[in-house]
Amino acid sequence: MLLRLRAIPTLNRDSDMRLKVLSTGSRGNCYLLQDGDEILILDAGLPIRRIMEAIDNPEEIVGCLITHEHMDHAKAAYDLAKRGIKVYASAGTWAAIQGDKPRLWSQCYAYKDWSVSLGRYQVFPFPTEHDAAEPMGFVIRNNATNEKLLYATDTFYLRRTFPGMHYWLVECNYCEDQLDRMLYDGLIDIELRNRLKKSHMSLGRLEEALSLNDLTVTRKIILCHLSDQRSDERRMVKEILESTGIDTVAADAQMEIPLELAPF
Ligand SMILES: [Zn+2]
Ligand SMILES: [Zn+2]
Repeated sequence: MLLRLRAIPTLNRDSDMRLKVLSTGSRGNCYLLQDGDEILILDAGLPIRRIMEAIDNPEEIVGCLITHEHMDHAKAAYDLAKRGIKVYASAGTWAAIQGDKPRLWSQCYAYKDWSVSLGRYQVFPFPTEHDAAEPMGFVIRNNATNEKLLYATDTFYLRRTFPGMHYWLVECNYCEDQLDRMLYDGLIDIELRNRLKKSHMSLGRLEEALSLNDLTVTRKIILCHLSDQRSDERRMVKEILESTGIDTVAADAQMEIPLELAPF
């Protein structure tokens, strides 16, 4: 009888992948995913000067992924492309960013069910649910180590599950009861409340989404894009940690988060 052995992915234990948070939330979103000498920029919602100041060697940048055209994610997208950095976004997002500016060769298009490789990172875009032209999230696989990171922000819902993610970088924008209390207290109007509910991820929906996913290999959950007025960082971290049993942190500007597979 022929026995077929299932290939076991080899994980490089010496990997030192880390995530640098340059900014998160409505003031701007920008993260640097770094492994060795390769940096992948996740969203560019800051002036280009601030992004480049945080990077010692610009030659290490292998590319940039843009989730959607809102300024808190795309402020420097065109400027980075002008510098010759490959900037990936959906066609709809690029059309909104580009406006009537000339098309650049480094403007690259991300398609769902299609994958691109940028240095050692293999990127798999998927559609998200937000009030933007054609928003995307990204699954990023480190080909050198097989580690997988999910980046999903500005989405009030996750349409599918993501098995086998080692790290989640995911929006947790507001707490439902806080939002409802603000409406009751007259601090926000019904239009804003309804818009938020159909464009951003709440703590409750994130908990629901995580409960539907197989988190067996997940080592870290990083909450991002917390709203200043409508979130409670300590409560969010505590609730996600308690419901998943997985190390959870809330991203904050200037934080450097090691992504480690230990105890594997
Ligand atoms: Zn947005
Ligand atoms: Zn945003």
